[in-house]
Amino acid sequence: MQIDTVLVKVASRCNINCSYCYVYNMGDDGWKDMPSLMSRNTVGALSKALGQLSQDQERPFATVFHGGEPLMLGPRRLEFLLQSLRSALPTSYPLCMQTNGMLITREILDLCAKHGVSISVSLDGPKAINDRFRLDKRGQSTHARVVAGIELLRTHPSSSLLYAGLLCVIDPASSARLTYDYFKSLRAPSVDFLYRDGNHSDLPFGKSSFESTEYADWLSELLDVYLSDANPPKIRFLDDIIKLCLGGRGIKEGLGQQEYGIAIIETDGTITKNDTLKSSFNGADRFIQNWSVHNDRLSEVFESAEFKGYHAIQNPTSSSCQACEYLKICGGGMPLHRWKEGAGFDNPSVYCSDQKVIIGKVIGRLKAEGLVH
Ligand code: SF4
Repeated sequence: MQIDTVLVKVASRCNINCSYCYVYNMGDDGWKDMPSLMSRNTVGALSKALGQLSQDQERPFATVFHGGEPLMLGPRRLEFLLQSLRSALPTSYPLCMQTNGMLITREILDLCAKHGVSISVSLDGPKAINDRFRLDKRGQSTHARVVAGIELLRTHPSSSLLYAGLLCVIDPASSARLTYDYFKSLRAPSVDFLYRDGNHSDLPFGKSSFESTEYADWLSELLDVYLSDANPPKIRFLDDIIKLCLGGRGIKEGLGQQEYGIAIIETDGTITKNDTLKSSFNGADRFIQNWSVHNDRLSEVFESAEFKGYHAIQNPTSSSCQACEYLKICGGGMPLHRWKEGAGFDNPSVYCSDQKVIIGKVIGRLKAEGLVH
């Protein structure tokens, strides 16, 4: 059992209130039991545990700072965290941050540059698109403040190291072209587009039925714009589909059949499952065992039957997926999208129809270019 990504919740609170957030607004309330910020004591235990893991497993892993909003740590606590991790981990191990961008300052960026932390900012598009769902706690726009943070990031002397890209949750009612053009204007080196959270019992926003293809229609428009651009940013979702269609590998869970080892560390040091499972049901991301970086050796946790059982849900079990001509490319999608009350995860993705359409469209384009037969 090898881990690729350790996602660390350094803050369990957020400074804004996105209506679609799986942490706070989809029924799970585990965050209420967590300390707001990771303490120095837990940072010490985390660093020791990750340092040990880097010796126990062969494969290097990335550490991703997440929340809530990780920059709620503030510069002093952030510096302690980065110093502590950098002294525990080999220098080649990536440190990354996923932030809403509102609290980015020059001081924060200097710290991240000093410790080699790449930053991805969550933004859903131009103001009208972004502010449909990403508002602050007073219901006010976040857009201008996020873009100001991106500008600091883009113009920092170490921007090529710092500015990893943007993370966008798709709004199928928006224009894919407008969104793409806007992200290009922000000079994003890459954009990761995500499906909205949802499942068979609670359909994702914008999907009228299991059979409907609103997201594929949006992604098809994106694909056309992307492939006609001579100088595009990287778009991981489309790149992964293209690579998988050509017989290669994806780089992230949710597409393809490669397994990804993902572990989450909460602000109190508890080890949990992939936090996106929170959108399935309250407590879905919790193990029965109460593992923690304070008490447990990570490599032993990852070798346990319970952890391996959690890891195995990445592989789709439904008969539809097993018989599907696109299984190698789709991989059955993300586990959270397979959830159905009463049937668990033994279903195709709720985005199955969308996956079939967009994969079919990519294959059509590759055939037209003579790249696949
Ligand atoms: S396209 Fe549908 S049936 Fe095929 S692997 Fe994906 S989710 Fe399963």
